[in-house]
Amino acid sequence: MSNPLKNDDFYRFRTGRFECISVSDGYYEYDTRHLFKNLSESEVIALLRSLKLPTDKIISPYTFLFVDTGTNKVLVDMGAGKLGPNTGKLVRNLKSAGIHPGDIDTVIITHAHPDHIGGTLDDSGKPNYPNARYYIMKDEWDFWFSDEAFAKVQERLSSILRPEIFMKIAHEQLTPIKDHVEFVTQESELLPGVYLYKAYGHTPGHMVVSFTSEGEELFFTSDTVVFPFMLEQPEIIPVFDIMTDIADTSKHRIFDLVAERKAPVLAQHFYPFPSMGYIVKKDRGWLWQPIRV
Ligand SMILES: [Zn+2]
Repeated sequence: MSNPLKNDDFYRFRTGRFECISVSDGYYEYDTRHLFKNLSESEVIALLRSLKLPTDKIISPYTFLFVDTGTNKVLVDMGAGKLGPNTGKLVRNLKSAGIHPGDIDTVIITHAHPDHIGGTLDDSGKPNYPNARYYIMKDEWDFWFSDEAFAKVQERLSSILRPEIFMKIAHEQLTPIKDHVEFVTQESELLPGVYLYKAYGHTPGHMVVSFTSEGEELFFTSDTVVFPFMLEQPEIIPVFDIMTDIADTSKHRIFDLVAERKAPVLAQHFYPFPSMGYIVKKDRGWLWQPIRV
């Protein structure tokens, strides 16, 4: 296993005619004790040791995707902003790759967890992507602005961050862009070659995005699965998933589809950078085959 701390700034590749860049926002260190509903701390440590990973914490890359389709400049998710000491590098790394945030016309928000929308605004409270239209599932937006959200987040996620932090970040970051948001209600081809899939469960309106050009396809699976070992051991239940049963159904649908299409995947939290690889279906779960760059 490569060093999961290895976090290059960006990685260019193509999907057909589409120019793609995998861009790092940094990484986050999670406490091993609080991430899984059905694994004890000693089981987590044994698992990490078997994977030759550090056992005192779980290091999670935060990797996002920029795609220039030729007609649109698309960003999928906006990073964590100031969530952690090692996050918030997305805008800087986009610029290093030659992408000016003002040129991005389309931002797809897969879901409204802090690591995906914490970088919506800059330090002065202005949008980092001032000329973009933002696309989010209506079910996702409605959840985070509903009365039930706090209780659900408290029930599922309070071991990771205080529930009020999830709510505060969602409300503070998303409210100022509301007039520029388009709500998505069904699976669709958003732009030519850009497809949105419902992958509900991780959050109530979580989505997956695929990019197709000239017979090639790339999937951004976001947080359908948050650690690669959960593909190989699909019975592991992460605390992150707000609706566990629906998340499990979505996981099987999306990763079976990706394996069948033999398409590369960018899975936002998978190591090593650039968080990309291939999925092979097995009798039980799937095999993760990372791309080494
Ligand atoms: Zn995430």
